[in-house]
Amino acid sequence: MAIMRNLSLRRQITILVGLLCIALVSAAAIGASYVVQQRTREIVMHDAAETAASMAALLDRNMYERFREVQNLAEMTPLREVWTGDSATTRRLLEQFQNSLPDYAWLGFATPDGTVRAATRGMLEGQSVQERPWFREGLKAPMVGDVHEAKLLASLVPSSANGEPLRLIDIAMPVHDSKGELIGVLGAHLSWNWAREQRRVLFALPEKKRGKSVWILSSDGTVTLGRAALGEKPFSPEEIENMRREQNGAFEDVTENEAVLTGFALTSGYRDYPGLGWIVISRQPDKIAFAAAHGIVMTILTIDGIVACFGLIFALIIARGVADPLRRIIEAADSIGRDPNVTSLPRTGGSAEIVRLSAVLRSLLRRAGTAEQRIAEASSQHEKDITALVKLAETDALSGLLNRRGFDSIGNEAFKDYRSRDESFAILMIDLDFFKSVNDTFGHGAGDDVIRTVGHAMKRALRSTDRLARFGGEEFIVLVREAGRDEVPVIAQKLRRAIESTSTLHQDKWLSVTASVGGAIVRESDRDVQDVIERADTALYQAKAAGRNRAVIDELQLQLATSAA
Ligand code: GH3
Ligand code: MG
Ligand code: MG
Repeated sequence: MAIMRNLSLRRQITILVGLLCIALVSAAAIGASYVVQQRTREIVMHDAAETAASMAALLDRNMYERFREVQNLAEMTPLREVWTGDSATTRRLLEQFQNSLPDYAWLGFATPDGTVRAATRGMLEGQSVQERPWFREGLKAPMVGDVHEAKLLASLVPSSANGEPLRLIDIAMPVHDSKGELIGVLGAHLSWNWAREQRRVLFALPEKKRGKSVWILSSDGTVTLGRAALGEKPFSPEEIENMRREQNGAFEDVTENEAVLTGFALTSGYRDYPGLGWIVISRQPDKIAFAAAHGIVMTILTIDGIVACFGLIFALIIARGVADPLRRIIEAADSIGRDPNVTSLPRTGGSAEIVRLSAVLRSLLRRAGTAEQRIAEASSQHEKDITALVKLAETDALSGLLNRRGFDSIGNEAFKDYRSRDESFAILMIDLDFFKSVNDTFGHGAGDDVIRTVGHAMKRALRSTDRLARFGGEEFIVLVREAGRDEVPVIAQKLRRAIESTSTLHQDKWLSVTASVGGAIVRESDRDVQDVIERADTALYQAKAAGRNRAVIDELQLQLATSAA
């Protein structure tokens, strides 16, 4: 990938390990959060259902007790006389009974014709309750009536402090004499505050704090306890039907844009108390119910975040450990050949691969160094060979002097110096006189010997700055540097004399030759060194023509004869 190519190894490792770490930690966090939420949800739902069931059981048990105590009062044999005795005694009995449980708003005994004979605090005494359902049903059998608003008692019993109308549960029992004859109906009106009290006992303050509220619905779904929704039907008939079918459970619904966890349980009576089909509802906003789960999830996410941070730091350390040795090798390799102090790579530690890479590269450099040295040696030998070859090519085999080819480059060089730096020079041409006769008389070998001896003699006579060459046959040429009009004739004569005074031993015979010399000093009109040589050659011709064994210098009109020497 192009992006990866532009990123350093260190960044790549950091990014990859970091991403992997974050992915793993996120997966673990999401998984753990999911499990925690699911498990907590089950617990919370179960708790909601349990709350409703506890309240339902409590209501059933207590209603059973109320039902039984009223029944006992109506049926106890020793009390039978009281129902038919004077009404004051009856009233006292009823009031004593009420004092033992102030939740009874009213207790009264009505004769079979529906007239209240005696009642607590004398309320409704003498009045007819014939039309009241509790009386009509109580004539026939023990009854418990569902909660309802007070009718006859509404004005007599003070309503509750919060202004709610007085709500009552009716309990009625037929009362018989010892012969089994019906003598009246015992009626009890249990204040609905009783249920509120039950709820208070069950749900202590901490529960309330957790936003829990408990409602009691009558069998038709109307809220009979639960201030917020009192008298309303907060659930649809389908929901009520579902609750009746399931008896006990929990579900979530949304009211006023707030998700609420709702637990429900049906009261079902206890022993011979048949129950009134109430539904106990436990309500708690989701955000409170699931607060613990959210807390745990937040803790998991925080811990995982910290783990991810450690993972990133770990990734950085790994990346540094892997990339740094490589960077050191690269930096050292880059300065080889640039920085004279760096000739090899450092021994680098790290992973086994890095140690191996460092060793292999060091070995490679050593081998490259050896190869470089061999090449340098070979090329120096090559240069020497070429120099030797050039020298050989420019050397005359017979005399050991420079040959014409060697002289040409020297002559051209001197002319270039003359043009660029005005360094003057002169050319002397030397030709042996009547050499043909030497060959003819003593043989070609003798001629060769003479050429060699004359060459050496001339070399000895010249200055180290002058250059002598055999120009071909028995002709020689001399480049005289840094010599002017005064020095050139002197050198020419010196040469001529050196030849003249030299003898060559050949087969017990001493051979001597003379030579003619022609000279020319470089001048402005010369186009190249050949022009100077040509003028020197002309001067040589003039020297021959003048009788040989003499020197003629061009321009100077100088002829230096043997006698002049
Ligand atoms: P002069 O120069 O005085 O006019 O007379 P010369 O006899 O020297 O005439 P020229 O220079 O023309 O002749 C050169 C002779 O030198 C011709 C040839 O036989 C001889 N010669 C040329 N090269 C060699 C050589 O390498 N070895 C020998 N032994 N003789 C040579
Ligand atoms: Mg000649
Ligand atoms: Mg000659």
